[in-house]
Amino acid sequence: MAIAVLALSTVPQPSFAWGRTGHAAVANIAELRLNSRAKAKVMKLLALDGNNHMADVSSWADQQRDAYPVVHSTRIPFDGRTAPAHACPDLDKLCADEAISKYMKTLKNGSASPTDRYVALNFIIHLVGDLHQPLHGSDPIGYNEVTFNGSAKTRIHAFWDGVIIEQHGLGSAALARELLNNGVDVKTGGSPREWAIESSNLARDAIYDTLPACYPRKRPRCPTTPMALPSNYASRAYPVVARRLKQAGLRLAEMLNDALGA
Ligand SMILES: [Zn+2]
Repeated sequence: MAIAVLALSTVPQPSFAWGRTGHAAVANIAELRLNSRAKAKVMKLLALDGNNHMADVSSWADQQRDAYPVVHSTRIPFDGRTAPAHACPDLDKLCADEAISKYMKTLKNGSASPTDRYVALNFIIHLVGDLHQPLHGSDPIGYNEVTFNGSAKTRIHAFWDGVIIEQHGLGSAALARELLNNGVDVKTGGSPREWAIESSNLARDAIYDTLPACYPRKRPRCPTTPMALPSNYASRAYPVVARRLKQAGLRLAEMLNDALGA
């Protein structure tokens, strides 16, 4: 199963941040924590396009890359350099932290059109998840090529998006329940920019502790030979992934309860 995932991910592809399972788990956690007023309003918006659950739309934004000027990352350097206010490469697009703030304003605005609020809700559900993937808050964003248990090469970014969760083996509903019931306390609250900084620190401490920070087109350049990850890499990394998925889900619920639940 994991090998098949890795084989697919050798096809060049944009970085999607958490695979479908991870995004759906974040959405499921949040939906379970919505208060009744917020839930009624969320469900009404989702029904505009025939959806019944937040998980149904949790990866929609990844299919809209060309339709909306939104970058799905906020790139905070972890080497001590000061992060710019606009922390992503495209000046004419919103970075993930900026996009979340913009779409929250739209979602709270009762006189905005239902379609605009539906789009805003979809982006918020997705981008809150994205910003909790350590390599979507860091600079660099995980270009290193790696292999795992004899697999074809993939980028460490894709590995953190999907393979660690696939290896854990649960579907999104069971994963959400496991995370909500695992007794692990996670810090909630904070701003999207602060979540990106947390991600950057995690990338530094839990990913770039064993891989060189590098880029494909500027210095320092990435090694040309893929690094073979140790066979226990995915199981060792899972607790970090689990904590971030849970944090994302709880924070997403907090935001939606704040915006729609009063
Ligand atoms: Zn994304």
